[in-house]
Amino acid sequence: MTARATETRYAAYWAVAGIARPFTVLQFLRDRREADRLWETTHPVQLAGLGSATHLSILPLVEQYAANGRLATEPGVSYLVSVDGKKILFDVGWNRHNEHPSPLLRNLEALGVSVSELDAVFISHLHLDHVGGRECQSGRTFALSARPVELGGIPAYVPESMTHPSARVEVLATPGKLAEGVASSGPLMRAIWLTGPVFEQTLLVNVAGKGLVMIVGCGHPSLDRMIEQARVVTGVPLYGVVGGLHFPVTGSRVGRGRQNIIGSGKLPWQRITQEEAREAAALLAGLDLGLVALSAHDSCDWTLGVFEEALGDRYRTVKAGEAIVVA
Ligand SMILES: [Zn+2]
Ligand SMILES: [Zn+2]
Repeated sequence: MTARATETRYAAYWAVAGIARPFTVLQFLRDRREADRLWETTHPVQLAGLGSATHLSILPLVEQYAANGRLATEPGVSYLVSVDGKKILFDVGWNRHNEHPSPLLRNLEALGVSVSELDAVFISHLHLDHVGGRECQSGRTFALSARPVELGGIPAYVPESMTHPSARVEVLATPGKLAEGVASSGPLMRAIWLTGPVFEQTLLVNVAGKGLVMIVGCGHPSLDRMIEQARVVTGVPLYGVVGGLHFPVTGSRVGRGRQNIIGSGKLPWQRITQEEAREAAALLAGLDLGLVALSAHDSCDWTLGVFEEALGDRYRTVKAGEAIVVA
């Protein structure tokens, strides 16, 4: 089937789904209006005394691609963010086959990292590929594996109401400082077809002598809103962007084009276009950044190529096991 025929088939399928689900369409439109209203009426103030960090490295633990064949891969996200000796677990992957040990635990072991070294957990948003699976998403929790993993009361910074049996969950309703030079952007709402609205936060690290590094899960709120929020909250010029930006333009990593529909913030018959991905790459290229590392878990290989072309040697694809050392 040609790409054009595939497009037409998807459009027809989802148009029918839209007609068959008028209330879902209405609910989606209401959610989208609410997300825009929140964006326009919420005016965050700059965090006082954010400070800066000297060292930042991001070790991808779970990703679509890996640095070598010994590491497990899946279209989910988990990164070990090390800031001046503090270790923050950014999201916990998908564990799509509900395994124990999960891909996350297996890769942690392969990379020589112990769960007991973690100082905190940071959950970008409540989607299955970031919280450890579908059951975790519906149960509003997160899990590192199919069996309980003791977290010993470390803080877990989450963007909306969630619980966890052994972490001290802190719901961040607004931007907040988490450690010296480290902050949450605060949750930004996005309407999502079928699964309902999602609130996503980015992890912001002010690296001395470089600038702000924005670590992103799926990127649902849109690149320009996330960048604007980071600028207002920190007042620090952006240096780097690491993570998912949700541009599954020519194909989805997850069955039957699901990412092209769910997560785009659009109605099901409206697709993410090549133009939008090119504009995002051009936006980042125009910001004179030092680093852009794009996750392949919610972007297709075509998009990775567009970003690489626009950003040259400042670009890299996020791969499990390949540390991104900023400073
Ligand atoms: Zn995702
Ligand atoms: Zn998501």
